[in-house]
Amino acid sequence: MMKNFEDQEIPSNYFTAADIIKAIEELNMNKSTDEFRLCAEHLKFCKNEIAPYLTKLFNNIIETLKTPNTFKTGIIFPEAIPLNKTNIAQLESFHRTNLRHIQSLPQRTAIAAIYLLIGGLPIEAELHKKQLSFLHNLLSSNVQRVKDIIIRQMSVNYDNPNSFFSTIRELLSKYGLPPIHLLQESLPSKIKWKSLVTKQLNTYWLNTLKDEAESKSTLRYMETNHLLIGKHNPVWNIFDKTKAEVRKAIIKTRIVSRTFTLNSDRAKFNQSPYPLCQLCNHYEENISHFLLDCPLYPKLELHILNLSRTMLFKIQQKKAGTVCFNLNQTLSG
Ligand SMILES: [Zn+2]
Repeated sequence: MMKNFEDQEIPSNYFTAADIIKAIEELNMNKSTDEFRLCAEHLKFCKNEIAPYLTKLFNNIIETLKTPNTFKTGIIFPEAIPLNKTNIAQLESFHRTNLRHIQSLPQRTAIAAIYLLIGGLPIEAELHKKQLSFLHNLLSSNVQRVKDIIIRQMSVNYDNPNSFFSTIRELLSKYGLPPIHLLQESLPSKIKWKSLVTKQLNTYWLNTLKDEAESKSTLRYMETNHLLIGKHNPVWNIFDKTKAEVRKAIIKTRIVSRTFTLNSDRAKFNQSPYPLCQLCNHYEENISHFLLDCPLYPKLELHILNLSRTMLFKIQQKKAGTVCFNLNQTLSG
């Protein structure tokens, strides 16, 4: 475009304020901000005031063929950047730490519990969603140059593990999505594609996390059958937003994720001289004793936790160390 302009005499009023306002009105809403924290809504809100300045600026660019440096920067999203295992591990670690802190879970919490309790996805899955969304953007483009690049990349870089299309081919296969050649023949709408991708990814990761949870002895008390991605575990239902309610919820999550420290745990790691219950001082303080057998705990701790009668009945049924928290029965109420 610029090369063509070099040979032409460009009028100083190449763009009009009306052109600028029209372009602003066509910007997509609800999109992320740029590196200056500005978004389309900012421009739309002050389009009439800012239009004269932008008109002068863009006409200046056309006249001088020079672009301001700030126009050459932006935020790069990782859709098209092939991340290696180390990059993903670093991002995953950061993401998990945040999810743990939000839920007040200790460092030793099993990874599957961190995601399942809050209904979250690992960062790897979030990146895959972005990449598959970006694929739809590419395939739905009407720009001939983009179409040419896709054809070239697919023929030259299809087997290059560092290329976007090689990564995409693996993702489509991994999540049971149609291969690229079928998508090129019949591309679903953006909404349908997003819905399909979300469904396939959520199913894949829910099953993966549930399998992982079942393999962990620490998570044997966590009911996983009815858990869903995008929906938090009922232990996080807080009806009354007081500090006491939040504390109760934290205790529940720690019981469910088996990170609530009992005296038998302390004794194992020499943090207590004996594993006996601190209240009755008669039996070993394990999870079964804590929730079911101790003559004093039901009057104190269980009352504080506000366990439902149905839940207590279920716990009684599952006695002998196989206590099971059912999703349909929240620990409260
Ligand atoms: Zn006791």
